[in-house]
Amino acid sequence: MSDYLIRQYDEVRESVAVAAAKAGRSPDEVRLIAVSKTFPAADIAALYAHGHRLFGESKIQELETKAVALPADVEWHLIGHLQSNKAAKALQYASCIHTVDGLRLLERLDRLAGESGRTADFLLELNLSGEMTKFGLAADEARRLAAAAAACRHLKFRGLMTMAPYEASEAELHRLFGGLRELRDLMENDCGLKLPELSMGMSGDYRIAVAEGATLVRIGTAIFGKRDYS
Ligand SMILES: *Cc1c(COP(=O)(O)O)cnc(C)c1O
Repeated sequence: MSDYLIRQYDEVRESVAVAAAKAGRSPDEVRLIAVSKTFPAADIAALYAHGHRLFGESKIQELETKAVALPADVEWHLIGHLQSNKAAKALQYASCIHTVDGLRLLERLDRLAGESGRTADFLLELNLSGEMTKFGLAADEARRLAAAAAACRHLKFRGLMTMAPYEASEAELHRLFGGLRELRDLMENDCGLKLPELSMGMSGDYRIAVAEGATLVRIGTAIFGKRDYS
């Protein structure tokens, strides 16, 4: 089981590096987030023993359970929707929150970070495909939020995150991921802040995301296998 996991992981890492090289980028520019949601702490421990440190979780409760069970130098990113009543827990366990999608959540996180003496990086989550079912900001909403994001005193605004629809064609994926990069460039200009991180690309589309400039790819299925939500 663990051999299989390690083999899958090594293949994904290699494949991310190949995609980076093809795009004329250094493999170091793309960090792999192993998305461990629904998988047991033992799987995370196996990858940890193999040298991997960066994991992504979607739910606060699951993140907390795993974070307390695993070594303190695991780096956790929160990649799922964050309800504001769970903001304090998010700050307690996540070093980066990918899913900030409104002013109220942003202000609450910054205030709680100040009160608790914690800090975290965060990304604004964009919904560029206009799908009604997903969370995230439209491009114009994100641009309006940029000044407030840059003005946070305890959190660091580091970039943008998006998810592409599963059924998107290759051409659409290039358009969406390239669009996130262009929006990032505009927002850097708007707020005079470097926004180095582009969190985009999952198991089915990370090669295209890397070609379009992803710095964080969030990969679950291709490493851990199919998720069972039952
Ligand atoms: C579950 C999840 C992923 C991982 O998706 P896979 O297709 O399993 O690689 C990536 N990003 C987000 C936001 C997720 O919720």
